[in-house]
Amino acid sequence: MHPSKPMRLCTLATLACMTLRMAAAASVAIVDTTVVDVEHDRDATHRTVLVEGDRITSIAAANDARIPVDAVRVDGRGRWLIPGLVDMHVHLFNTVSHRPPNDWALPLFVANGVTGVREMSADAQSIERLRQWRRETDAGERIAPRVLAAGIAARISDAADARREVAAIADSGADFVKVFSEVGTPEWHALLAAARERGLPVAGHVPAAVALLDAAAQGQRSAEHLMQAYEACSSIEGTLLRERSGLAGQALADLRDAQESRALEAFDRRACSRVARQLATSGQWQVPTLALPWAEAHRSASADADPRWRLLRADERTRWSRILGELAAHPDPLAGRRWHGARSIMAVFRRAGVPMMTGTDAPMPEVYPGFSLQDELARFVDAGYTPREALRAATLAPARFLGQDATSGSIAPGKRADLVLLAADPTRDVRNTRRIDAVVLGGRVLRRAELDALLR
Ligand SMILES: [Zn+2]
Repeated sequence: MHPSKPMRLCTLATLACMTLRMAAAASVAIVDTTVVDVEHDRDATHRTVLVEGDRITSIAAANDARIPVDAVRVDGRGRWLIPGLVDMHVHLFNTVSHRPPNDWALPLFVANGVTGVREMSADAQSIERLRQWRRETDAGERIAPRVLAAGIAARISDAADARREVAAIADSGADFVKVFSEVGTPEWHALLAAARERGLPVAGHVPAAVALLDAAAQGQRSAEHLMQAYEACSSIEGTLLRERSGLAGQALADLRDAQESRALEAFDRRACSRVARQLATSGQWQVPTLALPWAEAHRSASADADPRWRLLRADERTRWSRILGELAAHPDPLAGRRWHGARSIMAVFRRAGVPMMTGTDAPMPEVYPGFSLQDELARFVDAGYTPREALRAATLAPARFLGQDATSGSIAPGKRADLVLLAADPTRDVRNTRRIDAVVLGGRVLRRAELDALLR
């Protein structure tokens, strides 16, 4: 990261050239901008933010900031600076279909201001790949968000296998054990115990026979997709779970799906508030992935007419076409009610202060990597969150969940320089997070033209 000759030779807007230019800056000054505070309800206007290497080193009043002569200057006037956004639920690998990794998605995240992601379904090989991407990103050879944590799914059908499975996951270098809805209750308990022994957190779907509050009490650190929240927020959770008891695998998932309309019908605000109050102090975090129920309820007639369709790799287009074709042939009759239910639950959870993080499950069909995080922020606001609360769920909340808030999640000296400069105020309208002028990725500036190049 020193000023170097190659940057002067750089006249073409090629990726290789961009890389050299990005790596060349020793320091970056974002001059005279409004720094958005994602924690408190007060933004700091007319600030100059200085970045050296990959860190923020100072934030000073614009009229007495000392800017090094060789610093790259970014005009922040009339603009808003937010911390880099985080998508806490993505899939960068195709471990089941054995297609190549979704590296095509990496620039799309960055172009949308997403500078960090959590990988939800890796395997040993993909953990190796993540290390390689990290090295390439650090060397300025690849433009990608940081993978803040990666989990490997535990697939066992017998509790006796839990120790061995967790040991294999730990030895692969994963950050957490991912669990799925179909895991039987005894197997889930065995996985939690084995993971505790190895010091690995357990996160993912709350198994379909486990109550949401039980999962929180037993120490499942994150719950995805509001799974088991629909039941917990109904007046018939006990009945539904009793009917599911003893089941696992496909039989469990099938019964859950068959019961879904009853669960949605029986939404009970009071029961939901009671659960929410306990969840708020349980240590469990929610990643509701509202992008999913929203997409299910708002399927476009021809997804391939979306201008972003061409950004998908060919094999991904094929997969989306297949799945969307099946959905068109068998429309989901509950999609509208599920989205309504998700919003109702979110409103109750918000009031109780249940810890929340943004995640999108990209690249599920019509959940475009990067773009979907922008959508998720809007969905939080649809559900009653203020824009600032939504921003917090995408920045400081993930940092806290991951124990990384000393070095990321907000704009402060000493924190990592993952920043997004916006042309309009995101606290007035959260959709303004789409109006990106520049992204600072670990101290490297990507201006609008360079972001556009990532989307070509
Ligand atoms: Zn997922």
